[in-house]
Order: sequence, then C-alpha cells, then structure tokens
Amino acid sequence: MTAKTLFEKVWERHVVVPESADTPAVLYIDLHLTHEVTSPQAFEVLRSRGLKVRRLDRTLATMDHSTPTDTAQIFGGLPIKLESAAKQVRQLELNCAEFGVNLIGLKDDRRGIVHIIGPELGATQPGKTIVCGDSHTSTHGAFGALAFGIGTTEVGYVLATQCLLQRKPKSFAIDVTGRLPAGVTAKDLVLAIIGRIGVNGGTGHVIEYRGPAIEALSMDERMTVCNMSIEAGARAGMIAPDETTFEYLKGRPYAPQGADWDRAVADWKQLRTDAGARFDKQVTIDASSLEPMITFGTNPGMVTGITGRVPERPGDAVFAKSLAYMGLQPGESLRGKPVQVVFIGSCTNARLSDLELAAKVLEGRKVAPGVHALIVPGSQQIKREAEALGYAKIFIDAGADWRESGCSMCLGMNGDTVDAGLYCVSTSNRNFEGRQGIGARTLLASPATAAASAVRGRITDPRELLG
Ligand code: SF4
Repeated sequence: MTAKTLFEKVWERHVVVPESADTPAVLYIDLHLTHEVTSPQAFEVLRSRGLKVRRLDRTLATMDHSTPTDTAQIFGGLPIKLESAAKQVRQLELNCAEFGVNLIGLKDDRRGIVHIIGPELGATQPGKTIVCGDSHTSTHGAFGALAFGIGTTEVGYVLATQCLLQRKPKSFAIDVTGRLPAGVTAKDLVLAIIGRIGVNGGTGHVIEYRGPAIEALSMDERMTVCNMSIEAGARAGMIAPDETTFEYLKGRPYAPQGADWDRAVADWKQLRTDAGARFDKQVTIDASSLEPMITFGTNPGMVTGITGRVPERPGDAVFAKSLAYMGLQPGESLRGKPVQVVFIGSCTNARLSDLELAAKVLEGRKVAPGVHALIVPGSQQIKREAEALGYAKIFIDAGADWRESGCSMCLGMNGDTVDAGLYCVSTSNRNFEGRQGIGARTLLASPATAAASAVRGRITDPRELLG
C-alpha cells in the first residue's frame, strides 16, 4: 500500500471525478460556510437560473464582516450605522429565508466570526472538505479538515452542486521541533514560519504542520497557526487530529453523538500521514529558538523578533515603499515605538485563550493615555465566557473598549477603523496597506504583545509584563 499524507487521504475521499491534463478534479464539499460579503451575487445567480441550494444540511450561514460591534446597534434598537453594511446584513437574511439556508443571524447567541463558530459548534470536523468565501477558511484545517477559501463565483457553484472544480495542490510539511518558550505564542510561531518561508513560500501547496511543538498546542492555538497558512500563500494548512482534537469536539452541538461519535473517532484516527509518505516540500523549524514576533511592513512576511530591528535591503524599491508607508527606517528598533491603537480580535486571535492571555497582561494595569484599545471577542459564546471568567471586567477596568463579536478592525468594513498615519498593534492576520483603514499602519503581533503595548503605549516585549 502506498504511504499517503494526511492531505492525500482527505483529498482522495472527496474526489468525484479525478483531474486530467485538461480538466480539474470535481471535489465533493462536506461543509459550506457562507457570510454576508461573498454570497449576495452567488444567491443572485441561483435565483436567475431557477436553481435551489443543493444540500441545505451542509450549508451554514452567518454574518460577521459587516456587523457592527457596538451593542446598541445589535441589541439596543439603533440601526446599523453604515448603510453598506446594513444592506449586506439585510440581503443575507432575505437570501437565507428565500432559499431555506440555516442562518445564525445578527442577534443569535451562537453568532460570531465564521471561522470561530464553525469549530465552536462542532460543524468543523476531521476529514471534512470545508469551503467558505473567505481566505482564512484555512483555520478549520487545525482539525485535520481540508479547508480553503473560494471566490464569489465558486460560492455559487457550491451552493448549486455541493461540488467544486479543483486542481490537486502539492504537499508541504513544516516540522516544528522543540517547545515554545514562555511568553512566545502560536501567533509568534506562525509569524516566524511566514518570515522564514516568505509570503509565497506555500503557493500551490497544502501545508501540514507537524512535530512535538504542534502536538503540544491547544485547539485554539492550532487554529491560529492554520489560520495564517494563507498568508504564506498556501492553499490550506492542516494538522492531524489527535486526542486534543477529539476532546475539543466531544459534545458540541453539530458533532456526532453516541455510537456515531465512537465510529467517527475511529475513522478520524486514520487521518494521519503514513510513515514514509512523501511531501513535495519540507522545512524544519525549532520552536525553542523563537521570541515574540512583530511585523514592520505591509505583508505578514515582513516580520522580526521583538528585540530585532527593521532590516536593511538597499536597492529594494518595494521594500522601501512599504517602509515609507509604515513610516519606519531600515535599522530602526521596533521596541519602544509609540502606538495609538491596539486591536485584540479577529479569527486569528479572538478565542477565549487569547483573551485570557490579554487579561493576564492587563490585570491591575491601565491602558496608556492616548491609546485606544479595542477588544472584540470572536463569538458571542466567547464573549459570555470572558464575562463569566472576569476577563471582560479586567479589560473594562483597564480602560479598554469591550465589544460584541465580529471581524471588526481586522478589515474595517463595519465602522471599526484606524485613522491614517496611526500605528495599530493588531492580533489580526493582514497588515496590507489600508486594511484597517486608509493610511492605517498595522503591526501584527500576539495578544500578549498587543496587550503589553496597550499598557506601555509603545511596542513592548510581553515577557516584561508577564513576569
Ligand atoms: S476576522 Fe478578518 S480575516 Fe477573519 S474572517 Fe473576518 S475579515 Fe476575514
């Protein structure tokens, strides 16, 4: 029997028609997550062609990108302030009602960022093919699913057929040895990986993260790592399911129950890369050598250790343009640079353990004068848990702004933006020009670094405050 990678096993289980030299494979999709931004045109195509949604039981919709995080606009009767956002929210409600799609709506207590609630509800499971009209669908790969983002046109194909045309990607093993040192998080690990392989390092590949440092991560941390696979250009990121995965999923509303659960776990245990399986590419990283990371440029690969300096690349015009946008100089130290905004949120780092880490740093401390610290839980469930555990009180007492869940300042489509020229330490995943607002200067980092920077009002090594 040929030794296979985890990716090959999941791929082969879902091929309806194999690819040929002229045609891509037809791949069956187990779970289609949809949201308000990339679905309106797709529903319109279905409507104009008289088509129905092929598998309502495999389609789940929610709203997150355009939803406000201001409580009064969700629960307090105030209208959604941004008309463009209000229109998208309304349209998704109308489309889901017309086509019979299960919608986790604006006031639903299960609502949240699509890549957070999929796992939270147990809809994300090992071995599934999962798509969504959003790049960070790679998050779900943390469960051993093959999960990737699709375009608006493809959203329509999947709604109509439950299948997708796909060329088989190549495979890429990233072996992470050692253990992450204290104060160094999964976010730092994935930023270091992107710094090492580059923003195109994973292009055309599905990455499998393996090794003792990965096995030691919690599910929250594994999701952070897989979430940013797309920032290394990869089609998807995957981690083999294990006891940590099963423990996380057990008892969740959409997870198999009773005898089905036992059967599912027995099957999921097969989803591991066989000894001797061949990868197209392989890289090894020692987790023990890492420190907290922070970006200095306009893509996530422009990253350095927090004790490092902005590198010098004489003659690189693109690099120089990026630094000019960021208002930084080659050779400059990042530590100590004043910041005006701190955002702790997004599908990368707005889970309960991220908030716990931020609370650890902020407890008994205050956000520095002149800094706006915005803390946005990834889902309403996380919000309730953070409130019950006292984290929310710590944030509010520190002077941070505590909100309802949503994508918020990750992309600034919902009224939460960073003003031009301001520096924002953000736990999100993209530092592209204008991503958080026109002229906004984003510095990607972990929740610990973000919280520490909020306290000091300048870029701070979180290990100084974590003790
Ligand atoms: S939090 Fe950001 S990256 Fe994640 S789904 Fe929302 S907009 Fe996309």
